[in-house]
Amino acid sequence: MNINEKPLIIAGPCSAESREQTIETCCQLARTGKVDVLRAGIWKPRTKPGSFEGVGSRGLEWLTEAKQLTGLPVASEVATAKHVEEVLRHNIDVVWIGARTTVNPFSVQELADALRGADIAVFVKNPMVPDVNLWQGAVERIINAGIKNVGLVHRGFTSYGSEYRNNPMWHIAIEMRRRMSDIPMLCDPSHICGNREKIESIIQKSNDLNYNGLMVECHVNPDEALSDAEQQLTPTQFAEILSRLVWRDRNLLSGKGAEALEIMRAEIDQIDSELINLLSRRMKISDRIGVVKRQNNVAILQSHRWNSIVQRMLNQTDRLTLDGDFLVKLMEIIHLESIRRQTEIMNKQE
Ligand code: PEP
Ligand code: MN
Repeated sequence: MNINEKPLIIAGPCSAESREQTIETCCQLARTGKVDVLRAGIWKPRTKPGSFEGVGSRGLEWLTEAKQLTGLPVASEVATAKHVEEVLRHNIDVVWIGARTTVNPFSVQELADALRGADIAVFVKNPMVPDVNLWQGAVERIINAGIKNVGLVHRGFTSYGSEYRNNPMWHIAIEMRRRMSDIPMLCDPSHICGNREKIESIIQKSNDLNYNGLMVECHVNPDEALSDAEQQLTPTQFAEILSRLVWRDRNLLSGKGAEALEIMRAEIDQIDSELINLLSRRMKISDRIGVVKRQNNVAILQSHRWNSIVQRMLNQTDRLTLDGDFLVKLMEIIHLESIRRQTEIMNKQE
């Protein structure tokens, strides 16, 4: 199957719970005509023991039956070499590596070894922690095992104080896409949101960011689901969301639009290089301040100075039409780099 088809829509229950629930959900999804791949989790080691832990291998038989009935390829999660052996035996078309597994290079290597040379598509979900290198490393292990069809799934990151179940931290996913630009990236709004309310807006946002598709949890009777009940949609609700979406033009503009875009991009490139040059000048001055502080044995961090810098910035937000939070974050990064450089200067052995 071609995972580069765009948009690629994967949908199905969080877990296969029974033959009826799996088949009914899959058939309803197929009837919407909007789904390309059917998913279901088979092994579900949950956060705490004692709750529903998945139906195990017999669920793969229900998925295979759903595949025969609908003609659609099917997908499931693998976390151990034994799972890989089972999915390959059942001719499952697509597997994904879950966030709890991507975080652990031992497990990812075990999966890569078990998958070596197999003709199967593999999606790598982002790790629980916002670490691009860890995510990239996991993908590289799978590619190194000779898997040709590899994709990414952005499902958000564990964090405290976020309005989401898993904070999307879009910048991490965007950086991952920059590093692995020829690999398709899907958005999993279900695990980002943790409930149904914000799913539509997250899907729209991923669409605006030109993601390659979606992985969404759907269930014939979400309220009765044995896992992730709050976030699952009925196939009908999902189809309605898809039909309301605004699909952005994926191709570059042509004619007049293209020309205008080119000019604005050239302008941005110019401004970016001016910004970098200004930053370089700022850092050099800050180094000179570091030398003076060293000569006079003055502490690096002068908090009243930092407060006045931030205040001066905030006083200008309206005039500049810049968001205050953004300005403070930007200044914090610049300030931290200045402190790092000054610390080096203060502690340099002569
Ligand atoms: C899932 O998709 O069912 C799942 C467990 O996802 P994640 O690894 O993103 O938590
Ligand atoms: Mn789930």
